[in-house]
Amino acid sequence: MKVEPELARCVFASSNPGKLREVEAVLGPLGMTIVAQSALGIAGAAETATTFAGNALLKARKAAQQSGLPAIADDSGLCVDALGGRPGVESARYAGADASDADNVRKLLAELRAVPEERRKARFHCAVVLVMPDDSVEPLVAEADWRGVILAAPTGSGGFGYDPVFHDPATGKAAAEMTIDEKNRISHRGKALRLLADRLQRARSSR
Ligand code: IMP
Repeated sequence: MKVEPELARCVFASSNPGKLREVEAVLGPLGMTIVAQSALGIAGAAETATTFAGNALLKARKAAQQSGLPAIADDSGLCVDALGGRPGVESARYAGADASDADNVRKLLAELRAVPEERRKARFHCAVVLVMPDDSVEPLVAEADWRGVILAAPTGSGGFGYDPVFHDPATGKAAAEMTIDEKNRISHRGKALRLLADRLQRARSSR
């Protein structure tokens, strides 16, 4: 599948280089050039919604309005069963407004210190949206999960965020031990992006 010319250049409403690499790996082969919003001088939107899809829409709408380009946004996070689904939409800010990935991982491991392996189940969730700059078409939204287990200590040196402590039972690897393509095949973001591409194709064929 190749996308229509109007989608050949899209702005990505995030400044997270880890996410950008994963999004480019899935959408690049469809003929899409993905431009980071920071490269266009666009600052991130305030993430004030209470759902992943709500925050993704806020980010995409701002980037589309300011760039005049179609905008893709991802809002994602880690939901840990033993923490009642936290950190969830607060994943990037779990250890504080300016927390680094390492700070967030440290806080997570500290909170789970006394929790045994069988109760360390978690899922990554991702909502991706595509918004057109003139709002001529309804936003497309796709969401997906990746289920795993939180490790007792960081493992691997790839990826970003909570990847070093997220164990995928199917492959026996931590997310940070995977290549981008390996992770995209099974991850929340890879699955949500492929769903978005399918919805795009269906929306186009029903016009
Ligand atoms: P936001 O979508 O910008 O609000 O931030 C999502 C946060 O969730 C990231 O900063 C990471 O901490 C975490 N996260 C989302 N997806 C992943 C992933 O694929 N690997 C590791 N951490 C992730």
